[in-house]
Amino acid sequence: MTRKDNFMGQAGAKPMQDQELWHQAVLARENAYAPYSKFKVGAALRCQDNTIITGANVENASYPLGCCAERTAVYTAVSRGHRTFLRIVVVGPGPELIFPCGGCRQVLAEFGDFEVVLADISGRVESRILSVSQLLPHQFGREDLHGL
Ligand SMILES: [Zn+2]
Repeated sequence: MTRKDNFMGQAGAKPMQDQELWHQAVLARENAYAPYSKFKVGAALRCQDNTIITGANVENASYPLGCCAERTAVYTAVSRGHRTFLRIVVVGPGPELIFPCGGCRQVLAEFGDFEVVLADISGRVESRILSVSQLLPHQFGREDLHGL
């Protein structure tokens, strides 16, 4: 069984297993800087050594310069020396689950195929667990750079 196989059938509502990670994502969301969209997002990344690194979205008056919560978390983790991740929890502003944007999916994929947990902010246990490869099939990766 490959790691990808482990994720099969896990999409859909199911209990959140990593409550601590979810809680850290909720807390991180409070630090979001979203004066333009008011759309605050928090993310918490569990690293291989169980360290938790969080991120929030940071907007800018020059809109394209903003950074999503997921990328903030990944970039912070990588800049602290982490390279392998077990899961990321993403919490948006409302009862609807939000999915990482295409750019974040590509950034997540750079670091392997780990769990992506989409959770709501209310504390309900509804969550959706996917994998990076499910979110971004046929991804562009380092192996595509070989042979150039
Ligand atoms: Zn994004």
